[in-house]
Amino acid sequence: MKKAAALLLLIALIFCFAACAPTEKTAYGFAMGSDYCVTYTSSDDLDGAISTILSSIEKKYSLQVASSLAVAINQAAAGESISLDAENYAVFSRVFSIAQISNYAFDPSILPLVKAWGFDPPYNMNGKVPPVAAVIANAMAASSCEDFTLNASSITKLRDSACLDLGGALKGYAAERVAKLMGEKGVDQALVYIGGTIAAVGKNYLIGVTPPRKSKESYALSFTLAKGEICATSGDYERYYEYENVRYHHIIDGKTGAPASSGVISATVISQDGLLADALATAAVVLGVDQALALFDECGVKGILITSDKKVIAQGVSVAVKDKSYEIRTA
Ligand code: ADP
Ligand code: MG
Repeated sequence: MKKAAALLLLIALIFCFAACAPTEKTAYGFAMGSDYCVTYTSSDDLDGAISTILSSIEKKYSLQVASSLAVAINQAAAGESISLDAENYAVFSRVFSIAQISNYAFDPSILPLVKAWGFDPPYNMNGKVPPVAAVIANAMAASSCEDFTLNASSITKLRDSACLDLGGALKGYAAERVAKLMGEKGVDQALVYIGGTIAAVGKNYLIGVTPPRKSKESYALSFTLAKGEICATSGDYERYYEYENVRYHHIIDGKTGAPASSGVISATVISQDGLLADALATAAVVLGVDQALALFDECGVKGILITSDKKVIAQGVSVAVKDKSYEIRTA
């Protein structure tokens, strides 16, 4: 009798162990205007927790959510203070300090220009026409980072027209938050992908960089993303329209008021700080090779730049060329 009970207990333990053993799971969804895909090894189902974090970020910072904090700031009148919690304050202070260090190549106050060029939500590129010079001049004058005063509990605008667009850094922030969640939930290994921004949790991953302006099915380059790192890629091919045979893309140079034309058409930045990686990838497309590399150095990040003439410049990371039409240039 005792033997039978022991056997039953053993079988129950084996079943319990099998049910609780970590397995590889994948959470898919749509957030920040992009697909996301998180592959993680865990005995718990974390799909709901991942989707909750992503929608909480959208509810605060997305311009597509009418009730978001970002929309409230953009609709506020001069002098009106909008309350911030500690997380909001941390995000805004990081964003404004990257703007400053990049000499406003990354400019979160660039929304009037983004709108003037037709790159604001809902991102329909059909039938777009570039703005005339007067519209660009008005948009350039309408908003700047200096129009905001930030303190730990509130943000205040100095002019009605000032507004914010965190779209250039939000996917990096989201990837960073999901990677953190994985750590908190004791996940040993995870690959977090949010619209091209990738975080490696607990393990190194080989990452492919797609050739700018070509099929997403092939890779121009590959590199190893070390565990704990996040990479973000920005390029002039992600969102654009053509008008009278000229391409107009969604990364705007606030100094000229027009889509960036620095010669860098794809920039990948690698850092443990996801928001920084994403913001600097956007800044690098504005800055061009020399200034981007100097900024990467100053910020302690690694980077891979691809120029319009198919030169690849990597700083701090080794790159394997997969498509032989690309040529490595040493920094
Ligand atoms: P993607 O969203 O395609 O991954 P980015 O991270 O480079 O690419 O973000 C581009 C978005 O950032 C634009 O759609 C626009 O909303 C905003 N943006 C455009 N130019 C700038 C800029 N110079 N600085 C900050 N944000 C920008
Ligand atoms: Mg970016």
